Amino acid sequence: MSKKPSHNLIWDRSAECMSLSERKELQLNRLRDLIERVYVQSPFYRKLYTEHQIKPQNIRSLEDLQQLPFTVKSDLRDNYPFELFCTPLKEVVRLHCSSGTTGKPVVSAFTKNDLDMWSEMMARSFTSAGTTNRDVVHVSYGYGLFTGGLGADMGSLRVGASTVPVSGGLNNRQIMLLEDFGATVLACTPSYALVIAEAAAQLGVDIPSRFRLRTGIFGAEPWTEEMRAEIEEKLNLEAYDIFGMGEIMGPGVAVECPYHNGMHIQDDYFLPEIIDPDTGELLGPGEQGELVLTTLTKEAMPLIRYRTRDITRLEYEPCPCGRTSVRFHKLAGRTDDMLIIRGVNVFPSQIEGVLLRFEELEPQYLLMVERVNNLDRLEVLVEAKDEFYNLGEEAIEAFSNKVKHELHQMLYISTKVTIVPPRTIQRSEGKAKRIIDKRKESI
Ligand code: AMP
Ligand code: ZN
Repeated sequence: MSKKPSHNLIWDRSAECMSLSERKELQLNRLRDLIERVYVQSPFYRKLYTEHQIKPQNIRSLEDLQQLPFTVKSDLRDNYPFELFCTPLKEVVRLHCSSGTTGKPVVSAFTKNDLDMWSEMMARSFTSAGTTNRDVVHVSYGYGLFTGGLGADMGSLRVGASTVPVSGGLNNRQIMLLEDFGATVLACTPSYALVIAEAAAQLGVDIPSRFRLRTGIFGAEPWTEEMRAEIEEKLNLEAYDIFGMGEIMGPGVAVECPYHNGMHIQDDYFLPEIIDPDTGELLGPGEQGELVLTTLTKEAMPLIRYRTRDITRLEYEPCPCGRTSVRFHKLAGRTDDMLIIRGVNVFPSQIEGVLLRFEELEPQYLLMVERVNNLDRLEVLVEAKDEFYNLGEEAIEAFSNKVKHELHQMLYISTKVTIVPPRTIQRSEGKAKRIIDKRKESI
């Protein structure tokens, strides 16, 4: 993005801008300490490392990390609820868990120190998005077991901003409070940001004159650059991408700076690697693959070489903002959200990118996959804007062929495109559900 940065605020210059050699030394010290700690305190890791004949003293450099086996989501499920803890329960002060679609959820636990570090990382994140103690921060991430709401809350409090813990839902009340409290920062999922913009429009609220929003800090789900442009225009703010993951911590693992050239990973706390998702082999700088994270400082439930299933690439070029941490690019998607349609890999983000280029469409879509006569069929349902939908069937038919053609150019597969009336696709208060894969339901 070539936008001129609107500020260059940094929360903790000594940590965020330390030299690369200092950073490496800190990471290695923390890594060695971590491996020793889990070896002594965690039956899970001791067993795992004994099986792989690894002793803490084997870890002498950051590269030695590669000797260690990966951990995966099923390790968390298999050790539900508390078997992965490295501290006694009396030291655990907060428990969160994932939404998990089926079966038992995935638990994550925090000591007092863990919460303190998390607040610090969220304070860095808000500051990176230009937030100070003069701001009013409207938090519409869900509060509760999901880490989004409380994580954003802690960071906003730490920067001293006036924090409004609205949580998601009750859209009209959101609009009233945004206006009456004069919120300058909005924190929520990108899809909920659109819901807020839509609710304001329906109430006849003219956003530029009645809202004071300047910044949005949006994450917890994939969103494209096209979606960013749409949200920035509708809400009249600058949108920052923030990455989080419940198992690893919650929001604040990585965040954009005002240069919007990838998300700075808080790599004094989380060590990133990129691997080939099929072979597990480590990939080089700039190569796209699965993000693997090691929590260097987490006390209650550290994860070592945790496979996130998120697809991205690392960027080591220095950033003009002065932060020295490595960055990762906007996520291409998750390995488990990737659709395989007649043998072709398709990420929902690719489809979103195409759809949002059309003025006639709303940024609301649903991907439906099913098997018809032993062949995969991908149907893209997308909402038309009011004025376009009113043009009638013929115009819509011709237009859907145009969209189909553009999708074919991008994906090399044919799709069925169905243009649906405005406001007919279900909205969500948190993460949007954009895929219905009927092939999985029938297994
Ligand atoms: P949860 O554990 O519910 O917080 O979900 C974590 C997952 O949400 C990540 O592994 C990503 O797949 C997704 N996610 C979180 N933040 C972002 C983001 N900024 N962009 C894309 N996906 C994200
Ligand atoms: Zn930067």
